[in-house]
Amino acid sequence: NEADPFRAAVHEAVDLLLGHWRALADERLPVTPDLAPGAVAAALPAGPPERGEPLDRILRDTWDTVVPGLVHWQHPAFLAYYPTGNSPASVLAELVTAGLGVQGMMWTTGPAATELEQVVTDWLAKALGLPERFLHTSANGGGVIQDSASSAVLVATVAALHRASRGRWRDHGTEGRYRLYRTEEANSCVPKAARVAGLGASAAVPTLPGTARMDPDALRARIAADRRAGAVPAIVVATAGTTGTCAVDPLADLGRICREEGVWLHVDAAYAGPAALCPEHRWLNDGVEAADSYAVNAHKWMRTGTPCDVMWTADRRALTDAMSITPSYLRNDATETGEVVDYRDWQIPLGRPMRALKLWYVMRAHGLEGLRSAIRHDVRMAELLAGLVARENGFELVTHRLGLVVFRLDTDRRTREAAGRLAGDPGIQLTPATVDGRPALRAAVGSPLLTEAGVHRVWRTIRDHARACA
Ligand code: PLP
Repeated sequence: NEADPFRAAVHEAVDLLLGHWRALADERLPVTPDLAPGAVAAALPAGPPERGEPLDRILRDTWDTVVPGLVHWQHPAFLAYYPTGNSPASVLAELVTAGLGVQGMMWTTGPAATELEQVVTDWLAKALGLPERFLHTSANGGGVIQDSASSAVLVATVAALHRASRGRWRDHGTEGRYRLYRTEEANSCVPKAARVAGLGASAAVPTLPGTARMDPDALRARIAADRRAGAVPAIVVATAGTTGTCAVDPLADLGRICREEGVWLHVDAAYAGPAALCPEHRWLNDGVEAADSYAVNAHKWMRTGTPCDVMWTADRRALTDAMSITPSYLRNDATETGEVVDYRDWQIPLGRPMRALKLWYVMRAHGLEGLRSAIRHDVRMAELLAGLVARENGFELVTHRLGLVVFRLDTDRRTREAAGRLAGDPGIQLTPATVDGRPALRAAVGSPLLTEAGVHRVWRTIRDHARACA
């Protein structure tokens, strides 16, 4: 009934969120808080209350104590890292998911959770133009929603180890034998996956001269040298849209080498992947046909809240053989038939929320047209910013691809000084970067709240800080 405190609190939370989004759109809130470390913790009680408190008071405290201490990732002038998606459909799905409270580790613990995930990952694969072999309807492929691109790389690495060792690693570990290949431009989660999987350090393959793209000849040479030394090449992690400059590795060439060498190819398209919804950006995936696995973060550039990484593989048996351990408490008739998907075997944790609802809501509420126009909006805003940078004396446009604009000032000293000044400005956030050994600044456009006027405001802020540098 109307007096139900949960109903009242949810209504109030929605009003608070709508007000928050309005304040962000109007830039009435700063991007970053003015806070000393420890200030938020000091404002909180030393322990939990003995007796329960009303939900509306907890909500009020959220806005009084927590919200002012946040960096507002949805702010139009938040241009740091890569964007994290959001939309009313995504928020609604999170609420419903939490309310249903299903744990979908196996088909039998949530049949609809599993089958919805199979269907929506197939939907998205087709919408992105990914190969048929990644679909659940194919012989040995399928999609899974992970929490992060980091998990996707780790899962792919484990599956690759399984395949490269013909299962031996499960009993004997990695024995110092297996190799993962990446470039220096790969996200930090790639060498981390190598470490976590027990491969140790993964040496970076050189990039093509003057680019941030993996050099296929150098990869071939590394693989040959490793084989001569008795090592087993297991996996190449290519990136379609690197974190630093949104560079795209030559997937077709790398795929050919991986096929010839029997090495797993994982494509990390965490940021740029959703752009392939638009035919004009589908070139990003040229050559992906040879990949064994591929991942995009819907939570970066698909108006979907974090976490929502979608990973596909063309060899789901490698994943499940690598990961499956079945004690008596997980045994069930449906699994025994071999006809159902048990997502516990496609990920590191056992338990999982119903991950598919969020993607389903977002894809339905926006439609593919809506998602494409969101990407096109962001690309247009980035083009506007890149044009302003390129036309300004004393600025150098280093790279501009999709929503990412990387630039520097005329001297490294001035770039560093501008980076420091911008970091101290609560009205904007960018990420400092190093490109070709020189400092640069990185602006990643992705807030639906960023308008043309907002881009001009952002640009004036950047230019004013640059002009103030000696
Ligand atoms: N891969 C790329 C190319 C990225 O840009 C990022 C994050 O920015 C990641 C992986 C890591 O993503 P996640 O936080 O989902 O692990």
